[in-house]
Amino acid sequence: MNISIIVPLYNEAESLPKLYEWIARVMKENKFSYEIIFVNDGSTDESWQVIRELKDKSEEVKGICFRRNYGKSAALYCGFKAAQGDVVITMDADLQDSPDEIPELYRMITEEGYDLVSGWKQKRFDNKLTKNLPSKLFNATARRVTGIQLHDMNCGLKAYRKEVVKNIEVFSEMHRYIPYLAKNAGFTKIGEKVVQHRKREFGTSKFGLNRFVNGYLDLMTLWFLNKFGKQPMHFFGLVGSVMFFIGFIAVIVVGSMKLYALSNGVHAMLVGVNPYFHIAILMMILGCMLFLAGFLAELVIRNSPSRNDYLIKEEI
Ligand code: UDP
Ligand code: MG
Repeated sequence: MNISIIVPLYNEAESLPKLYEWIARVMKENKFSYEIIFVNDGSTDESWQVIRELKDKSEEVKGICFRRNYGKSAALYCGFKAAQGDVVITMDADLQDSPDEIPELYRMITEEGYDLVSGWKQKRFDNKLTKNLPSKLFNATARRVTGIQLHDMNCGLKAYRKEVVKNIEVFSEMHRYIPYLAKNAGFTKIGEKVVQHRKREFGTSKFGLNRFVNGYLDLMTLWFLNKFGKQPMHFFGLVGSVMFFIGFIAVIVVGSMKLYALSNGVHAMLVGVNPYFHIAILMMILGCMLFLAGFLAELVIRNSPSRNDYLIKEEI
């Protein structure tokens, strides 16, 4: 099979028939063999009913229905697991992404050798203030942290080589950073294609402004996991030792100054009321705690089932 198209959806009943027709037309024109996997993320409208009707009409349609709303990442995870095509395309269900882009995305993966191609909504039809502007900022940060030069990391329209989706695990809200997950797994040929973007015709956006707060926190988590996930002691041990060392030196300095003052008969304040003494002790305690946290994290990792998971590219 050439292409698997994965469509995560949450209350998008009105868009689905049109989306299906459009995809089917593009696939037919280009003579692709394909499947469309609709992942219904616990919709409370008639979405699932509509998918059932599409399924009756066409055997290329497949559907997965969650019992409740788990989020876009969960939907993508299950879609990735089910996908059978050589190239996997993800797209939003709200008709904001155009299926006309699929043939070119397919070509970039199969002929130009990309592992992943992300859409870039260069001209966006979303609210300027609440979406376009924060999104620019978000992408600038993401580019710096991840080192992947994409303009639109969180674009719903993306294409993957099958091997990529079978070897990365999207969970929580990490769908925003799939290119980063792919890069960390060793799939480094990541490309970008300017794609058409359209206004939402039906329904409303499912993500509010809190996406940016959560997005930043998730980015920090991923960065940390990638850098120190396998060796937390390299972080906690270093920071802990430095803090302890500074505290230790400070205590010595405070103590020596007191002794020096005493031996010269100069008046000096009690060590116990010297603020530097308290700061120094605090540094030493925090340093020890961080060090211990590092050891604990190392113990946790020893028991991680994935501690020895490596992606092997080839064996001869
Ligand atoms: N979506 C989903 N589960 C959720 C939220 C959203 O499957 O909990 C789907 C939604 O139906 C759509 C896609 O994710 O197909 C992108 O959502 P939306 O269009 O609301 O995001 P925006 O375009 O506003 O960034
Ligand atoms: Mg949308």
